Amino acid sequence: MLIMIKREKFWRRPGWLFCLLLPLFHFASVKLTFFCAVTPENAVVVWLPNAVLLAALLRFRGRRAPLMAALTFSSDVLANLPVFRWYEAVLFSAVNLLEVAVAYRLMLLSRASPHLHRLQDLIKFILAGPVCGALLAGLAAAVVLQQVGGSATPYLTLARVWWFGDGLGLLIYTPLLLAFTQPQHQRPRLTRWDDAALVLTLLLALAVLSAQGGQIENVSVTPTLLLPAVAVIAFRFGVRLTTLLVALISLGTAMMMTTGLKPFGEVPIHLEVVRAQEFILTLCIIGIGFAVLLNELQTRERELESRVRARTRELERSNARLAAISATDGLTGIPNRRRFDETLAAEWSRARRSGQPLMLALIDVDLFKQYNDYYGHQAGDDALRAVAAALASHARRSGDFVARYGGEEFALIAQCADKEQALQMAAIICRCVAELKIPHMTSPYEVLTISVGVTVLRPCEHDLILSALKTADVALYRAKQLGRNRVEAADVEPVA
Ligand code: GH3
Ligand code: MG
Ligand code: MG
Repeated sequence: MLIMIKREKFWRRPGWLFCLLLPLFHFASVKLTFFCAVTPENAVVVWLPNAVLLAALLRFRGRRAPLMAALTFSSDVLANLPVFRWYEAVLFSAVNLLEVAVAYRLMLLSRASPHLHRLQDLIKFILAGPVCGALLAGLAAAVVLQQVGGSATPYLTLARVWWFGDGLGLLIYTPLLLAFTQPQHQRPRLTRWDDAALVLTLLLALAVLSAQGGQIENVSVTPTLLLPAVAVIAFRFGVRLTTLLVALISLGTAMMMTTGLKPFGEVPIHLEVVRAQEFILTLCIIGIGFAVLLNELQTRERELESRVRARTRELERSNARLAAISATDGLTGIPNRRRFDETLAAEWSRARRSGQPLMLALIDVDLFKQYNDYYGHQAGDDALRAVAAALASHARRSGDFVARYGGEEFALIAQCADKEQALQMAAIICRCVAELKIPHMTSPYEVLTISVGVTVLRPCEHDLILSALKTADVALYRAKQLGRNRVEAADVEPVA
């Protein structure tokens, strides 16, 4: 955990520890290049160190750029001193700095993401670094080589060799350093077959790298054989491992040439360097290109999946909203008849299973036609809303349910112990509506009242739902007959 936190802090900004390690790492990269990528004839196959500064600038989005540039410039001069005269070392280091500065600036201008996770960012990087930055450095370095170093090689040849060496160095090393210093968005899911493919590729690489003159026992084993294997690794293992493999194979190939193994057969040295550079270029394009492309496709697929999930959630929410709307009465805001039918069926079977009595009450507003006629339809609507709210406020226990049954009629479903308790509950509701004191001048009670027909059921058979409603309706009719503003219960409980 502590290591994780420290690691996170280390990569957040270029702190003192990073600034100490950067020139050391740069210096080591120069030495590594001299050790394995410079032929005995002094031809540079790939020049890695420039990628160190470029990767650092990209990794930290240009923070502390002048300090990082000064540090790598110094280590470049120091590392070059044993090989070149001091002013040559300074000039070559300046050319290297120019290359990185141009590459980084072009990356910024093209708005390429420094993650190099998408193919378009990789292409922008290739154009900015290996193509433009390295070409400019090649043209400048050729001038230095001829004017200061006194080289007799044609200008364009010098420029091309420098360009390709530097360009390939950037191409191999920058994605590798970025891949290992930035968090990985997705880890490849590997199988045993993948492990076997990796082992086979490494064995093949060993065979290719140890082949004398591109042959083992007269069988041609050239580095080109590795291209399909690297493509497979790129598809299965992702960017990190592919960039590592590409770097290892590239450096291995360069090293073969420095040790005189001649992987591309018996050809003159300048042709051998060109062949090696062409091979490394193809290796990078196939390996890194495929890995980045696949990474991008997988990221898009993940984004698409998460978008589909979000849409599905949205759809579920609006479906739920729609279901609530379709189950709600528009005027009063309480559940409607459809919801009532569903709830009654559900409560019915629940009561049948538990054997608990179930109360069903039909409620009808008294003399409501007269109310409408006297006060107007709008006032009638307001009165219905007030009655619905009063009923709902008295049906708050779990299992209680009030709905608008239709017109000026409401229905109540509730759990109760017996008929007495049901009558008590209905009486409270009846009283509370009267206590709303909604004036009703044409009613004998002078306020708006309701009549309630109650039935208490112990359901046994499904088809009793209808007859239960009928029973409650009969009780309601009796309440009307007996003068309204009252509760009447069904005489006989329905039996199965
Ligand atoms: P009773 O006491 O016997 O029930 O008499 P009543 O006048 O209430 O019964 P009746 O069935 O004759 O009239 C019901 C009235 O309810 C008729 C109708 O205009 C009114 N009504 C039904 N739905 C609504 C509504 O949504 N808004 C308004 N304002 N009135 C409604
Ligand atoms: Mg009615
Ligand atoms: Mg009525």
